[in-house]
Amino acid sequence: MALRKYIIGGNWKMYKTPSEALSTIKALTMKVVNVKKVDMVVCPPSIDILAVRDIVRNSAIKIGGQNMHWQDEGAFTGEISSDMLLDAGCEFVVIGHSERRHIFGETDSDVNRKVAKALNANLNAIFCIGETLEQRNSGEMEKTLERQINEGLQDIDLQNPLALVVAYEPVWAIGTGVNASPEQAEEAHLFVRSLLARKYGGELAEAIRIQYGGSVKPGNARELLGQPNVDGALIGGASLDADSFSSIIKIAEEL
Ligand code: PEP
Repeated sequence: MALRKYIIGGNWKMYKTPSEALSTIKALTMKVVNVKKVDMVVCPPSIDILAVRDIVRNSAIKIGGQNMHWQDEGAFTGEISSDMLLDAGCEFVVIGHSERRHIFGETDSDVNRKVAKALNANLNAIFCIGETLEQRNSGEMEKTLERQINEGLQDIDLQNPLALVVAYEPVWAIGTGVNASPEQAEEAHLFVRSLLARKYGGELAEAIRIQYGGSVKPGNARELLGQPNVDGALIGGASLDADSFSSIIKIAEEL
């Protein structure tokens, strides 16, 4: 049995209206009724969360937000708070996704404030990191991950290792159809775990789940999830379809 419980997350990004979300989550819920050994999280667009909550209420599927502001409330048009996510039924929130960093200009310090707020509010944070192709090709993968971890988790005093999930998502693999090889993923995850051990000590670091994200599909999930330090996946495209998402969950359940 795996050392850590697998956690499979589906990031729906800006896809699915509330009625589309409803039909997908209904189909998904039926397909994963027997899943026992995997934590399952669906991260719909904010406007779909309530519809999804009504369906997953009696299932093991948990809900996550895709982003969150670090303030309690205020004049921040277009933003969403931790209290709003919690009240709508979320237990998780994705923080620092590559699209937030690269399209919307989120900095490591923004990400740090969001992780701190999420954990203080009792939301489990799915903290995303990952290098660009340019950084990888110029030998800066480790330096990039180290900066993202050091700055993103600065002054975060982690008590419960399950409250933090690190998603290693190489930017060049997200939505491109080109996944990291299992060896590349394992190498990066081992490195990330060593950074977490330096920060939080070996025992805590061994318990923190590290997801791989980037073009995970039913066809490559077994090999990726089979790596010793790959504790789950954060999935974009393949999570939009109940068949492909549930297939990946079932692969994790079998491992
Ligand atoms: C993601 O959105 O985090 C992601 C990994 O997307 P995809 O699976 O489509 O590459």
